[in-house]
Amino acid sequence: MKSTFRVGLCPCASYEEQSVENAVRTALDRSGGGPGIRGEVLLKANLLAPVRPDRSVTTHPTVLSAVVSWVRGNNPGGGISVSDSPGYLFSGQWPLFVENCGLSELTQKWNLEIRPLNDEGFLEIDSTATVALGKFGIPVKAAKAGTLINVAKCKTHVETEMTGCLKNTFGYLDTATRQRAHRSGSLRRLCDTILDAHLARKPDWNILDAVVGMEGYGPSHGNPRKMGWIIASENALAADVVAASMMGYRNPYSIPLLSAAAHRGMGPSDRNEIDLAGATWEELAVPGFRKSPSALRRLVPTPLRGLAHSLVRLSPFWNTGSCTFCGVCARVCPAEAIRTDTDRIEIDHHRCVRCLCCHEMCPTGAMKVQPNLIARLLLK
Ligand code: SF4
Ligand code: SF4
Repeated sequence: MKSTFRVGLCPCASYEEQSVENAVRTALDRSGGGPGIRGEVLLKANLLAPVRPDRSVTTHPTVLSAVVSWVRGNNPGGGISVSDSPGYLFSGQWPLFVENCGLSELTQKWNLEIRPLNDEGFLEIDSTATVALGKFGIPVKAAKAGTLINVAKCKTHVETEMTGCLKNTFGYLDTATRQRAHRSGSLRRLCDTILDAHLARKPDWNILDAVVGMEGYGPSHGNPRKMGWIIASENALAADVVAASMMGYRNPYSIPLLSAAAHRGMGPSDRNEIDLAGATWEELAVPGFRKSPSALRRLVPTPLRGLAHSLVRLSPFWNTGSCTFCGVCARVCPAEAIRTDTDRIEIDHHRCVRCLCCHEMCPTGAMKVQPNLIARLLLK
């Protein structure tokens, strides 16, 4: 008999505090009760950039607060922290993160510290279970947490199509390892690296903030989109399959990251293996949800699929208007393809591997994505 993976859902119309708290509790109950609490609890949030919660780039503070409340209710007096390794370029700006992401209130309300995930250093992992990585490090904080709860944000992603529970733990990795994964220019290798990281410290439970997600050019510059759900599951892949269904994917396994995870036996390999509690599949799809433009590669005829990345090209494009010449794009580029000057930015398109990290991390949105002719035709 095939195993089943339970996913608990609860509708949640807004980030009003009490509604979110009820929804998180209900989704956890429906998903099987949530994790048994052991030792120090770490909430791994998505704090990609120091931006306001209404931009939908980061896990909303009311969702984090509701999870803290649930943990405190189950383990009064136990240690708990909220953490992430934000986009590497911002690593020296931690107080700005706490302030801009709306987390100051959280620290006061629950008397807890919010610190960077990597501030205690890295613990070397040498696992035979890895596919893309050999020896690599994950943050000591994550490795030693008694209970790790993954509190992710539901968004599109210009490279991996979506980011949810599986992708959120890519944040375990140090800058150099992340850059190596992007520099390869291989989506398969990037997916395997993301999954290696996830397996190095598998979260004990996963909660996905899909109250307001992001559509289009995520994970940083898409549009906030009301989705209306809190999703919870012990299994990250199962939760992501449900989130992809909300994004309008009739076959969530057409997303390379999800199919690679299923291939590695990390969860359900079919929607029928998911036991959905609190919703039906039919009611999940958000009408007119704008998927990531990278989903266009799916429209390439099957015999040419191997060439899809070359045929449907999404390239970085510098738009001078809102550029502040901060130099972030050049710092994050894994191919060293960007040269910054005082009044212009140059992209060497021969070196560029089209990872779109520069677009993802540009704080002002000046680094755009330009679809080539085929992509533009498919977009019509
Ligand atoms: S394009 Fe964006 S990241 Fe690059 S220098 Fe301009 S504002 Fe900074
Ligand atoms: S220029 Fe941008 S898209 Fe190209 S390799 Fe550098 S970061 Fe990636």
